[in-house]
Amino acid sequence: MAVLQPSRTLATCDECRAVFDPVRGGVCPQCRRLLCGDHYYGSVLRRLQGLLGFRPRCVACREGREPKVLRRR
Ligand SMILES: [Zn+2]
Ligand SMILES: [Zn+2]
Repeated sequence: MAVLQPSRTLATCDECRAVFDPVRGGVCPQCRRLLCGDHYYGSVLRRLQGLLGFRPRCVACREGREPKVLRRR
């Protein structure tokens, strides 16, 4: 059975509000949003680059989209 480890702090994606492990996502250096892996890296290749220390911009910034910013409560 799955038990959340209390020592691990989970983050919330600013785009989809998904709760994720911070090591799987990151903060985009351009739009400053905290994003899950899907919205920050977008692909397995990008995620691998992230593991190597490469800090890419998020998917929205790379595509030139206006980042959607959800209001924090
Ligand atoms: Zn997300
Ligand atoms: Zn961004």
